[in-house]
Amino acid sequence: ERILCSEAGDQDVSFEQSLRPQTLRQYIGQDKVKANLEVFIEAAKMRRETLDHVLLYGPPGLGKTTLAAIIANEMGVSLRTTSGPAIERPGDLAAILTALEPGDVLFIDEIHRLPRTIEEVLYPAMEDFCLDIVIGKGPSARSVRLDLPPFTLVGATTRAGSLSAPLRDRFGVLSRLEYYNEKQLTDIVVRTAELLETDIDWPAAQELARRSRGTPRIANRLLKRVRDFAQVRGNGAVEETLAQEALELMQVDRLGLDHIDHKLLKGIIEKYRGGPVGLETISATIGEESQTIEDVYEPYLLQIGFLQRTPRGRIVTEAVYRHFQMEVPER
Ligand code: ADP
Repeated sequence: ERILCSEAGDQDVSFEQSLRPQTLRQYIGQDKVKANLEVFIEAAKMRRETLDHVLLYGPPGLGKTTLAAIIANEMGVSLRTTSGPAIERPGDLAAILTALEPGDVLFIDEIHRLPRTIEEVLYPAMEDFCLDIVIGKGPSARSVRLDLPPFTLVGATTRAGSLSAPLRDRFGVLSRLEYYNEKQLTDIVVRTAELLETDIDWPAAQELARRSRGTPRIANRLLKRVRDFAQVRGNGAVEETLAQEALELMQVDRLGLDHIDHKLLKGIIEKYRGGPVGLETISATIGEESQTIEDVYEPYLLQIGFLQRTPRGRIVTEAVYRHFQMEVPER
């Protein structure tokens, strides 16, 4: 289990549930997204209409699920949750849609993984709040139209690019979530510590924030582990030196890189002189699937400018050599 993984693991579910902010005001950061949603929600409420469909996209752990719940809460309606891979047949989607109450928010996580045949059922549902279902088989098959209650679809995806254009076009609001900065993550750590009734000082919270890869999910997970450490090794309070020690033990370096990032970066440096090298080659070298490298390991390394993507492959930047205190080679 990788502590710096930005995807949720099984052990995260109830912990995260207890930490979710309930309102836009409690939701830290993502100011542009929040400001927009605030206006749209207010306007929809004033007109007594359902909110337009919302597509949230961005890397895992940045607060998409949380925001979907907040939207439902701010609109004063119920939230129904499902995910792209969970809907296998058109009938699965029909069952969910026909069970909605007027105004409800339907959250579909990983919406880019909806099968195309199901997307097609979703189009009239999103546009006209109706379902076209085919009854019977062969020559006696006929299509019936079912009315649905008006609802808001909130879709979440880590890859907006892999969403089909017709589906993307049916969302009225497209919001891109960004990695959080150090101040915002520090605020999140402090807020979580309060909820966990743990004492933490500001420098310790900052230290956790710096190593959280811009991701609230990771910040909260690190705090949870460091809190255990403080309980066992200290007096329960999380202060700076103790946090640093705990993070060293967890092999999280001061930029939030771990042994897998080190293996990846050093692999490119040592075997391919810093690149360019293709994704498949990296994958074979370090023994990780290329899809995992692309979706899970790379985004943060690209974000902090440690990796660059070029047409000829990945390149390690000078910052990496400096981070590892290695001599920068002449290219
Ligand atoms: P995603 O759906 O994008 O993978 P989640 O919504 O599940 O991410 O968020 C992961 C965890 O991070 C949750 O426990 C949530 O409480 C916390 N979190 C995310 N964004 C924020 C935020 N802006 N403020 C406070 N906590 C946040």
